[in-house]
Amino acid sequence: MADRTLHGTGATPRSGLGTVVWYDPEVTLPDPEDVTVDRDAESEQFAAAVETARAELEAERAATADRVGEDEAAVFDAHIQFLEDPTIEDAVETSIADGLPAANAVDNAFGEHIEQFEGMDGRMAERADDLRDVRDRLLRVLTDSERVNLGQVPEGSVVLAERLTPSDTAQLDPDTVAGFATVTGGRTSHAAIFARSLALPAIVGVGDALDDVAGGTEVVVDGDAGTLLVGPDEDEREAAAADTGAAVVDEAVETTDGHHVEVAANVGRPEELSAAADRGADGVGLFRTEFLFLDRESPPSEDEQYEAVRDALDTFPDGRVVVRTLDIGGDKRIPYLDLPEEENPFLGERGIRRSLDPDSGLFATQLRALLRAAADGAGELNVMFPLVATVEELEAALDAVDSAAADLDDRGVAYERPSLGVMIETPGAVFVADELAARVDFLSIGTNDLTQYVMAADRENERVGDLHDPTYPGVVRAIHRTVARAHAADAWVGMCGEMAGDPDLTELLVGLGLDELSMSAVTIPDVKTEVSETEYSTASERADNARLAATRSAVQTIIQDT
Ligand code: PEP
Ligand code: MG
Repeated sequence: MADRTLHGTGATPRSGLGTVVWYDPEVTLPDPEDVTVDRDAESEQFAAAVETARAELEAERAATADRVGEDEAAVFDAHIQFLEDPTIEDAVETSIADGLPAANAVDNAFGEHIEQFEGMDGRMAERADDLRDVRDRLLRVLTDSERVNLGQVPEGSVVLAERLTPSDTAQLDPDTVAGFATVTGGRTSHAAIFARSLALPAIVGVGDALDDVAGGTEVVVDGDAGTLLVGPDEDEREAAAADTGAAVVDEAVETTDGHHVEVAANVGRPEELSAAADRGADGVGLFRTEFLFLDRESPPSEDEQYEAVRDALDTFPDGRVVVRTLDIGGDKRIPYLDLPEEENPFLGERGIRRSLDPDSGLFATQLRALLRAAADGAGELNVMFPLVATVEELEAALDAVDSAAADLDDRGVAYERPSLGVMIETPGAVFVADELAARVDFLSIGTNDLTQYVMAADRENERVGDLHDPTYPGVVRAIHRTVARAHAADAWVGMCGEMAGDPDLTELLVGLGLDELSMSAVTIPDVKTEVSETEYSTASERADNARLAATRSAVQTIIQDT
């Protein structure tokens, strides 16, 4: 056993063994009392620093596009925009005019904006990281500070840091760096997203305990378990060194006895489409359209949504792309929509409930965009509705599709009706799965929410994290029931919750009869390999035993015996 185990959130389900290198990009600001400020000279220095920073960003953008991909490089465009933001520039100039050195003026002006972003929810809060990145770059130039070169850390390093900004992470070379761990950050922070797209072992949000791990210590980053093993033993070192992940499998896979299972990607941002294709996704099993609504001031237009969905269809010309209609509410808030505060947002106006709210107006626009994209994109569009709990909601959503088609007819615009489906995320939907399946082409089980509602365990609350586990018999039986009802109604059924991407559960899910498993791109090769090594007839028998088991430990014993 390791000397010490620290816990965080796994960002990439890979393990890496290496030696700690601390990354500390702090710069020291001048004390305004100690300097005589020549306002014109400081203002010129600021302008020159902006130019240097811009040149650096453009060079890093090009290098990242080369090494990681054009999509990942796009974050530098956002940095250049922050660098040129007139509000920030005015604030810097005002502070210089008030007598501050340029570096302190930059620190103040960015500080205010960073605070504003930190006060917002979800991914808007993560823009604060981008702003910090731009601020630190300017400060390094203005104070002539040496930049620690993350691109040249010794081979086999595990980088530890308070936080890593997008450009820090983009410098890491996955061929030499063994992994990283940060004090702050969540699964959706940019650093975590980059780590996943590079398949780099990583954990985030370890907390202050990370500060006690000295440089030069040997550690294992276990991104699967979300742990950092400090001073690992021989077995732990060997297991980590052996974890290279499965090779990419480009073709569709079937079990050893010829049962096909589609392995698809969950896509949060349009930029993730090409990474999904590179990792062998058969198609997209969940395109989270709410991300088109984030990081902006107003909703995307019908044309913007049409373009984004069409891109997805063109990335998978021979595949199936499942687009989920807007799923906001709960933990996903969009500041400019000004939604009412709710006491229990996870039990409030989420998902389809919000889309069907007559005040929303967003649903009709989105459906028109989807119907148009279905006609023009290369791949096969499927559209599904999130958080349905009743047949009435589904019927209202289907009526809304009819109305969108009628609007397009009136406008003389070409469209096609996509295949339609329902997400199974509530116990209510599980109990009427037969009725829902009779009205649509497919069901897709969202185990992140289904587990939280079946187990009454908030998916965000680590105090009940142990209960939020889809291998409890209550959840396994809900999945089994859904699959059986879907198949009886001739509908196909997939799974797009995190459970689908866990290679340890692949045999169970194949045995339960799921036709499609959809996950974040990094685990696609492992899951495809698992499917192709599974015997369907054996998996079905084991899944039957698992669904009849009384306890989680009994379910897990069956899974581990495989
Ligand atoms: C789910 O609930 O399992 C799901 C896929 O939706 P989200 O995680 O976006 O709520
Ligand atoms: Mg959900």
